[in-house]
Amino acid sequence: MPKKVIAIDGPAGAGKSTVAKELAKRLGYDYLDSGALYRALALKLMLAGLDGEASDDRIMNILKDTHIEFSNGKVYLDKADVSERIRTPETGHYTSVFSSKKVVRNFLLVLQKKAGNGADLVAEGRDMATVVFPDASNKFFITANVDIRAQRRFNQLNGKISFADALKDVQERDKRDSERTVAPLMKAPDAIEIDTSHKDIETVLSEIMRELA
Ligand code: C5P
Repeated sequence: MPKKVIAIDGPAGAGKSTVAKELAKRLGYDYLDSGALYRALALKLMLAGLDGEASDDRIMNILKDTHIEFSNGKVYLDKADVSERIRTPETGHYTSVFSSKKVVRNFLLVLQKKAGNGADLVAEGRDMATVVFPDASNKFFITANVDIRAQRRFNQLNGKISFADALKDVQERDKRDSERTVAPLMKAPDAIEIDTSHKDIETVLSEIMRELA
């Protein structure tokens, strides 16, 4: 178990990763990108030819021989660095499909709880404050309006998809992530909400630092 946890949740494209990574660096905390774990796991299931219709038994059968690790900002699937490979729109889509399954979430829950190896931790995702680290010392819910989030996704993917597809992707993921029955994306009642739509990273970081003080 990590010692002290700052949990940061929010929808796709809200700026969580940028904020969480920089916050961890400034505080000297360890950093967990839980989305990267979900993406690596989805990649494994995709490579095995599975889709959203796969049974829990088939998924479990693959997971029992799966090793996923997040270390120093990189994610390893069966010892191979897949940090770049997991960032495609296709993997993003399948990640949100597979992550609605309890069998997948349970597998990663154990791993996430061990993150940080006893060090202080900044953890980002969808259910950090609600499920994985409900006792986190600070909880933030980072959001932004959907057009701005789609624009950020579009810029991030550097022309690999159109703006219309980026918007559709963000909308679909919002819907799937917040409507699923297991650990849906939602703001913890005790989390502080920050809307980053018209704020730069320094402004967001100073709002967070003020809360931590
Ligand atoms: O954060 P990122 O966009 O990389 O996450 C990819 C997908 O992984 C999300 O759309 C969501 O479906 C899933 N995820 C999740 N729970 C987390 C982190 C990510 O379900 N804690």
